[in-house]
Amino acid sequence: MEFYSNNISRLIENLSVLPGVGTKTAQRLAFHILSMSDEQVEKFASAIVNAKKGIHFCNECLTLTDSDICPICANKERDHKTIMVVENTRDLAAYEKTGEYNGVYHVLHGTISPMLGRGPDDIKLKELIQRLHGDIQELIIATNSSVEGEATAMYISKLVKQAGIKVTRIASGVPVGGDLEYIDEVTLSYALKGRIEL
Ligand code: ZN
Repeated sequence: MEFYSNNISRLIENLSVLPGVGTKTAQRLAFHILSMSDEQVEKFASAIVNAKKGIHFCNECLTLTDSDICPICANKERDHKTIMVVENTRDLAAYEKTGEYNGVYHVLHGTISPMLGRGPDDIKLKELIQRLHGDIQELIIATNSSVEGEATAMYISKLVKQAGIKVTRIASGVPVGGDLEYIDEVTLSYALKGRIEL
């Protein structure tokens, strides 16, 4: 990329580290950014910096948030006795968009995957077990239906059943290997309604 100035090359390089962005797309994005007004670029850059700076895990559900307790956990109107276990904050957002769920969440930030050397200690499982000491009626396991998602669901259900808490799994309306993020809201709300007890 010697025909670009150093600054442009650096911008392209930085953009191409994003998931799904190859060199061609990075170039297109870079030139789009360069065509924006100074003000727009400032806003864009500070949105990235500010989002990263203020972000941490919610003290209760461990989703990414910029306050100690996320808005969902802080909401007294929600059912705090029902916890839905999801893999990441994007999946939480997908369920929130259905508008069908009034409980709270627990975000694992990953899955158990013996193949990839990821064990129970590599995800936020200890924190989940701690929450179960409280007054919990149902735990809904909503990990993806990938091999890792299923392995994680099995592991959690065994642990939780020992504690005498009702454990359910979202219905198989979610396609195998489907990334929850890309599944439409209708499918997700059916999956939630048709959950089965484990
Ligand atoms: Zn929370």
